[in-house]
Amino acid sequence: MNIYWDYNATTPVDERVLAAMLPFFTTHFGNPSSNTHIKGWDAAEAIKNARSLLADCIGASPSEVIFTSGATEAINLGLKGAAEIFAPQRNHIITVQTEHKAVLDTCLYLESRGIEVTYLSVDSEGLIDIEALKNAFRPETFLVCVMLANNEIGVIQPIKEIADITHHYGAWMMSDCVQAFGKVPVKVDTLGVDIMPLSAHKIYGPKGVGALYLRRRNPRIRLIPQIHGGGHENGLRSGSLNVPGIMGMAKAAEICVESFYTEAIKLKQLRDLLESFILEGTQGKVNGSTTNRLPNVSNLCFPGIKSEYLLMRTPHLCLSSGSACTSALNTPSHVLTAIGLNDSEAYASFRISLGRFTTENEIIEGGSRIRKAILSENPAFNDSKA
Ligand SMILES: *Cc1c(COP(=O)(O)O)cnc(C)c1O
Repeated sequence: MNIYWDYNATTPVDERVLAAMLPFFTTHFGNPSSNTHIKGWDAAEAIKNARSLLADCIGASPSEVIFTSGATEAINLGLKGAAEIFAPQRNHIITVQTEHKAVLDTCLYLESRGIEVTYLSVDSEGLIDIEALKNAFRPETFLVCVMLANNEIGVIQPIKEIADITHHYGAWMMSDCVQAFGKVPVKVDTLGVDIMPLSAHKIYGPKGVGALYLRRRNPRIRLIPQIHGGGHENGLRSGSLNVPGIMGMAKAAEICVESFYTEAIKLKQLRDLLESFILEGTQGKVNGSTTNRLPNVSNLCFPGIKSEYLLMRTPHLCLSSGSACTSALNTPSHVLTAIGLNDSEAYASFRISLGRFTTENEIIEGGSRIRKAILSENPAFNDSKA
């Protein structure tokens, strides 16, 4: 039996999402930019509805939503587009060591172009220090970029508080809400965010589509586009729209907003059950916050056991030894080292991320497989449940 516990890497497309997409590959294949015929108008109408639906889901207005090829592109547009608007007068960004690589690598690139970046550290739970944030501001600071929920350990930052401070210092607030959306409430005004990337494939939508929320008023966000061409998406992101993908993303978001509350309660129960089942009688521990955490994530460390070997013993159990985006690199997780783990502890850690289709049967079955694997790697561990 294959068990998929890597929902933070990607999710299967929900059947309802697929159904919403299918007509737009064939019957309604038009290009929404074709404004001289019925096929184009059909597609434009569909995109208009999808844009309003997604905007409603995050408490925004439709003109504040820009569709992209995914969150990585949305993040690149947010960071580079803002940097170019403010250059050269204001050239300082504040972000965090535990951000997704899409943020960190873009910041690294911007540093090579003369932008200065402060990378805030985090405590053992994964939270930033608010005083350190306040001290990091300079007159040139134009942007603060802090993710709402971390993809590896699930820690949730106090974004509203961070946004209020950011606005007090006259900067814009950007927050990667890719992992948070669908698991905790994500409304742009409640969070106080001005720039917010989202991804469809983390919320049971298709891969290769995402969106960037850009606030229109107080403050009005303006960006320099990074992809030039036909002037689509208000000139901010040229290229013919991925109509089926966008239909899927909007449907996926709608389902999440309808069901996230009950889903989150279920996931938390399953996650807590699994965590206590796996950890009992072992020297294992949870990495990061156990209180301010996404309901579906469990990042565990078993000192002395390389998770690489552990995961090889459970090939039909889909887990992750880091984030999918960085697991190609043979370096310890930058998130785990940032919360204070040494390299060997980081290599002894792995991530479980549950999702919509996780069942209680899977928890018992998968949990036993993990305990067996731990026991094989270290016979000293209690085997009563293996
Ligand atoms: C997956 C992920 C991204 C990248 O999203 P893509 O749509 O795959 O480009 C960015 N940030 C976080 C937190 C993620 O989990």
